[in-house]
Amino acid sequence: MRHLYVNGSWTPSTSGEVVNVINPATEEVIDQVPAGTTSDVDSAVAAASAAFAAWSATAPADRGKLLADAAGLLKDRAEQIAATIATDMGAPIKLALKVQTLMPAGVMESYARMAETLAAESRVGNSLILREPAGVVGAITPWNYPLHQAVCKVAAALAAGCTVVLKPSEIAPLAAYALADVLHDAGLPSGVFNLISGYGPVVGEALAAHPQVDMVSFTGSTKAGRRVAALAGGSVKRVALELGGKSANIILPDADLEKAVASGVSHAFVNSGQTCSALTRMLVHWDQYDDAVSLAVAAARTYTVGDPFAEGTRLGPLVSAAQRNRVIRYINLGQEEGARLVTGGTDYPLERGYYVEPTVFAGVAPGMAIEQEEIFGPVLSIVPFGSVDEAVDIANGTPYGLAGAVWAGSEEKAVRVARRLRTGQVAINGGRFNPLAPFGGFKQSGVGRELGEPGLEEFLEVKALQL
Ligand code: NAD
Repeated sequence: MRHLYVNGSWTPSTSGEVVNVINPATEEVIDQVPAGTTSDVDSAVAAASAAFAAWSATAPADRGKLLADAAGLLKDRAEQIAATIATDMGAPIKLALKVQTLMPAGVMESYARMAETLAAESRVGNSLILREPAGVVGAITPWNYPLHQAVCKVAAALAAGCTVVLKPSEIAPLAAYALADVLHDAGLPSGVFNLISGYGPVVGEALAAHPQVDMVSFTGSTKAGRRVAALAGGSVKRVALELGGKSANIILPDADLEKAVASGVSHAFVNSGQTCSALTRMLVHWDQYDDAVSLAVAAARTYTVGDPFAEGTRLGPLVSAAQRNRVIRYINLGQEEGARLVTGGTDYPLERGYYVEPTVFAGVAPGMAIEQEEIFGPVLSIVPFGSVDEAVDIANGTPYGLAGAVWAGSEEKAVRVARRLRTGQVAINGGRFNPLAPFGGFKQSGVGRELGEPGLEEFLEVKALQL
């Protein structure tokens, strides 16, 4: 039986109740974590508050050294952690290793370097401008990139000099436990990092509302993000929100169609489509529409669906039965709305495990639910357009604004279109993800940025001394 990590030691929850952790490939219970309570949150926040004075006063370079040691441990344990993530959330093992584990180890290293070079003071006129740690941070994370999302918050907050209480998703919590082990073994002082597992409406809400928590950093659905922001408003705390998306991949007529469609399909289906920045809407000119649909169908049919540990698997299961039901509901809804199901569908590809077929819809019109709402599964919608202006309007026509992509005959032209997109990131002609670049949303995709220097600045207060 696992415990909570509070004030530097593993401590039983006051509830005695557990959350079962299920392997989505086998549907079997593989572990149990405590269902934390509000009084567990009180203990963790008290420990983080008590640790804040000393930790915030350490030299940033010393904080950086500790984070560098922790990043080293993440790398040393990468294979084991990747196997944990493949088992509790279902990511294919290669993806679990490279993207889900080694990438966050790299992010942790980047914050170690930033801490070492943190320019905490500057001058303007007769003022000395100081940047000080924001205080005690409540970090709430989802299940889809469970280590990465925790590291984005925890490493940046610790580098800034904040102390942290982390609440991982109840659905795939084991990577957060591995992170707690790593920080403990790296020698982080007691109370600086605490882990309370459990349910959102209990542990998450207690953190968001807690008067001694100075900032809440949340990644998850827009619905839960709204609730967190409302609760945080009670004590006027800082709030950073990384929420959902419905990102558009605009393929202009002079782009390399084959390359753009192949890349677009893989960006829509990575991690079984359970990626907030997934390019789930492919926007193609009418003149190339039929060709693009055929290319997308052919690409989708090359996907091997199966056991995350099997050689050659590209699509693992969805994380839970609830998530699979949600995706199946959207596949039915798309057909009811009049979109054309061109491959995939609602059949279960395997007898056991929460698998869904890689699915493509053609004839998707702006305003359909499958065009507007986040599905969070391997479902791609292909939407036709007649002009660049129309493509931009469709791309910007959802409540979200997280990411996007533009393919064109030249980088210059693609960048011109990308400047018109109301989103936090845009990939140009297949530009790859950069974990050092700021990430976050416009509109209902969130508030604030993670990664890179803006990701660190989220955790700093600014003070001006007039001299
Ligand atoms: P979710 O909102 O259900 O849960 C996220 C976290 O919030 C979990 O830890 C959960 O326990 C907690 N939570 C739930 N209700 C809460 C409440 N009332 N108060 C406080 N905490 C609460 O989301 P999920 O299903 O775990 O993750 C999928 C969602 O996350 C998708 O919408 C996806 O787009 C989004 N996401 C966004 C980003 C990003 O960076 N923008 C990254 C990954 C995932």
